[in-house]
Parts: sequence; structure tokens; C-alpha cells
Amino acid sequence: MKVRVYNFSAGPAVLPEEVLKEAADEMLDYEGSGMSVMEMSHRSKTYDKIIKDAEADLRELMQIPDNYKVLFLQGGASSQFAMIPMNLMKNKVADYIVTGQWAKKAYQEAALYGKANKIASSEDETFSYIPDCSDLPISEDADYVYICENNTIYGTKFKTLPNTKGKPLVADVSSCFLSEPVDVSKYALIYGGVQKNIGPAGVVIVIIREDLITEDVLPGTPTMFKYKIHADNDSLYNTPPAYGIYICGKVFKWLKKQGGLEAMKAHNEKKAKILYDFLDESSLFKGTVRKEDRSLMNVPFITGSEEMDAKFIKEATAAGFVNLKGHRSVGGMRASIYNAMPIEGVEKLVAFMKEFEKNNA
Ligand SMILES: *Cc1c(COP(=O)(O)O)cnc(C)c1O
Repeated sequence: MKVRVYNFSAGPAVLPEEVLKEAADEMLDYEGSGMSVMEMSHRSKTYDKIIKDAEADLRELMQIPDNYKVLFLQGGASSQFAMIPMNLMKNKVADYIVTGQWAKKAYQEAALYGKANKIASSEDETFSYIPDCSDLPISEDADYVYICENNTIYGTKFKTLPNTKGKPLVADVSSCFLSEPVDVSKYALIYGGVQKNIGPAGVVIVIIREDLITEDVLPGTPTMFKYKIHADNDSLYNTPPAYGIYICGKVFKWLKKQGGLEAMKAHNEKKAKILYDFLDESSLFKGTVRKEDRSLMNVPFITGSEEMDAKFIKEATAAGFVNLKGHRSVGGMRASIYNAMPIEGVEKLVAFMKEFEKNNA
């Protein structure tokens, strides 16, 4: 059998090998049910335990307070770009901090439903930094302030949350979900597509403070786009992305076994440091992001020559380091080093980069 590659994809991305093996073992017969989780009624006792355990484990990992609901929805992170304004824009005003393509898309989508204000942006320097958000012109009547906490394409991360001056904070955490501990109580709503750091594409997890879940949504909001319908039905209003949630549940158990989010943070910091330290000393490769805003998860870098970038990507791929090509909008390279990327993956990548640098001096 072919050995697994080191997969640096930004998403869908690497998952823990242990989880994949377990899923493979259970493919034909889940715990004596004689069927795969894919074939099972979402109303069955067996499935009910799967989704309830997943929620309980996520609550434990993130220490989610009791006054927050956890929703397992579908439509990916992008569906939330609409669902958030439809449910939360009571005054039809929201403030957006635009730090990359995903935040920009969310901002543009919100503008379809009300007045979306771009109160800060880092587009002037190709989103290579996080703007100072300590004293922004927050709108008096803003229903919420929106951020994309980790910018998957550009490799920046908010190290401190913006000062929202008391307004509810909404955060897209797709690419930093469960990579380190967070204080959930600082947010009104946290959401993320799971295909970056947790599971199969399609599932989006929404963690929302209960008082924000109301019947009072924008007129015309489809039933499937109401948080209340999903909250009232424990994410089982309709058939949920059942198999995807089962894999997420396995990843939550795996994370608990690794020591939880404090341990993941230490692990992720160690991994990222290996790569960033090399980028800082390299004569060929360099990082593209302001140092203090560097992401632990997505590490973009360039050589300065498109030809050399292409040569590097080609040789790296042949050596088993795959999906290192940067996003089509920025070029260069990007190594996504999510929770499931083992430290050896990063060590070996850096060794390969050193060798490449020597051969191309
Ligand atoms: C990938 C990504 C998205 C889009 O996710 P989909 O599930 O494809 O809709 C949104 N936000 C961020 C931060 C992402 O990384």
C-alpha cells in the first residue's frame, strides 16, 4: 500500500490517521449494528448517541458555557455568511473587519440584507496584517461586529480580539477551530466549516449564545436558515450531515486523548516555530505576513521568483510534500499545518526546504 503523503492542504485537509483507521474499521458494521453510520437513521438510538457524544465532547474541549447552543449544520462556512445577518441583523446594521477574502465575502453577503459597514481592513497591504482594532468606529446601532479570526489564505490571525465596545462579536474560526483554547464567553457566535481542522467538508459548527436565538429574523428567512429551528430540534430538524458529524465526534475524542486544547496549542506553537524560524533565517524563502500577526495554522511563503516557486512545488510534491501551492489569488506557497499534521511532517518539510535552498543557491 502507498505510504500516506504529508498533506499541507488548506482544506479539505489532513485528519488524524487514527481516526481514519477507526472509521475504516467501522465502515461495514458500526458497533454491532450491522450497518455503516452512513446507512443509519438519524432518528435511531445509535445515531442519537453519536451526535450527543460529539456535542458533549466539544463542550468539554472548549468549555462552552451552558448558555450557548451548539449546532451542527450544513452548507459549509459560506452559508453562514447569509445566515448570520438573516438572524442577527435586528437593526439591519453590522460592522465588518475585513482581513481577507473570507471576511470580504461575508461582508459582501451581509450587504444584501442590511447596512454592512467595513470599519477596518488590511486590503491596502494585500491582507498581510491584522489592523489595530482597539478603538474602531463601532456603529451605535450595530447588531454585531464580525471578524474572520484566522485568515486561511493570507496566514494572519487575530492575537487579541477587537474591542467591540459592548457589541456582540461574531467570529469565523474555520481555520483555527480547536487549535488552541478560547474563551467562548467573549463571543456571541463562533462558527466554522469543519474541513480545515476537524472533519469532512459540508458540516459547519455554530456555537451561539442562547439570547441571540429568536423568532425575530429578517422577513423571508428560509426555515432551514433559522438558528431557532435547529436549536429547538438539537440539530435534528432535518437529516443532518450524519456521517460528517460522526467523524467530527471521533476527532473530538482524539483531541481529548492528545490532552485537549492546551496541549494542542503547545504542539501547534512548536510546529509553527520550526517553520517560521527557518523562514526567518533562509536566504531563499521568506514569509509574507507581519510577524506579530502570524497564524499557527496557515504559513504562506515565497521565494520572490514565480519560476523558483513552481520548481519548488514540483520537487516538493514529488518528494511527498503535497498541496503546498498558495491560494490562486496570492501565488507562492502555503503550508497549512493543522492539528493533525505531525511534527515530523514539518521537520521533514524544513529539511527538504534547506536542501532545496542549497541546491538552488
Ligand atoms: C474555507 C473557509 C471558508 C469557506 O468554507 P466552505 O465550507 O467552503 O464554505 C470560510 N471561512 C474561512 C476562514 C475558511 O477558511
